[in-house]
Amino acid sequence: SEAKEAFASLPRYVRINRLQVTQKRDVDALKERLKKALFAAYQADLDAGRAVSPEMASVEDDALVPELLVLHPFSRSWLQKVPEAGTGALVLQDRSSCLSALAAKLVPGDFVVDTCAAPGSKTAHAIELLGNGRLAAFERDSKRAAALLKRLNLLVGFKAQRKKKKMNESQLKLGSRIQGRCLAGSGTSDAGVEVDLRVDDFLETNPLLRPWSDVDVLIVDPSCSGSGLPEHHLVDAMAESGKSARVKRLAAFQKRILSHALRFPRARTVVYSTCSTLRLENEDVVEEVLRNHPSFQVVEALSWWRNAPAQASSDKPFPSWAKYCLRSDPVTHRCRGFFLCRLDRCKPGPDMRA
Ligand code: SAM
Repeated sequence: SEAKEAFASLPRYVRINRLQVTQKRDVDALKERLKKALFAAYQADLDAGRAVSPEMASVEDDALVPELLVLHPFSRSWLQKVPEAGTGALVLQDRSSCLSALAAKLVPGDFVVDTCAAPGSKTAHAIELLGNGRLAAFERDSKRAAALLKRLNLLVGFKAQRKKKKMNESQLKLGSRIQGRCLAGSGTSDAGVEVDLRVDDFLETNPLLRPWSDVDVLIVDPSCSGSGLPEHHLVDAMAESGKSARVKRLAAFQKRILSHALRFPRARTVVYSTCSTLRLENEDVVEEVLRNHPSFQVVEALSWWRNAPAQASSDKPFPSWAKYCLRSDPVTHRCRGFFLCRLDRCKPGPDMRA
């Protein structure tokens, strides 16, 4: 099928980490080094008699997502030889995954919660875009929390505050908490972000108690079927029609997480996303949760993103706000399948404190 072919030839995306590469001239120099390194790797493979072509070493700016570079699908092994890919100056991150932190439109000083954080691609990006402020990252699985900690150390220079009791990744367990600071963007007015990593169930937080009663923005990227990922995209027709017990279970969990996020009394924006292409995990989740949270409404997530034309559905019609949600697919956007919905507070909720 067209989708299968598109998945097989998806470009590799790398995001320039502006917490590490702060100056514009350093960005340009990094791109040049990357181009040279990939070209050298191409030539080495050519000399070794491998079937390679010069376009496999191409590096282009993404047409839409800022600071994102588009590489050839077969450049992966070459990229491993580029030093900046190991230092975190270049972040391997799919185009779709960059959309959540951008859609959150963070402003300096915000208090952000990433409800389902590991392995931390969106967390690191949000910290970078925030510059100054606070971010709490929840991850209830301790092994995955260890991967999150490692990634935040590498990408955003996250350092635990209490040096004496330095927690390493293998010591993390449910209930562990690491507080610390991240890099500040040099040459900017950014003071850096205070980070609170919690190995905990986000659903256990009480939104009405401090510090949670002060949260401005929540990023909700819960576990999902992954039907938009290359390895899973052939989800069977059973799942599409909602008969799959697994998808139903996931949707029930997604509704709980999103509902909980909408209970935070000062939350201005909640960004909900999945790497699923199934309506059951996307629009249907938002539709049901919104019924109990009339103080939020769906707003346009990113004005520059164009969705693929909606497919005719024999099913029930989509709600009118569905046009504001953002969907990516491999054929139209040359990236993974993804769904994103931005919910903004439109009126103080009944639970809003003065
Ligand atoms: N946002 C991540 C990123 O961009 O790298 C990917 C998140 S992944 C789709 C979902 C994560 O949420 C998993 O690591 C899972 O263990 C975690 N999770 C699921 N339920 C949770 C809960 N109730 N509280 C905290 N974390 C949870």
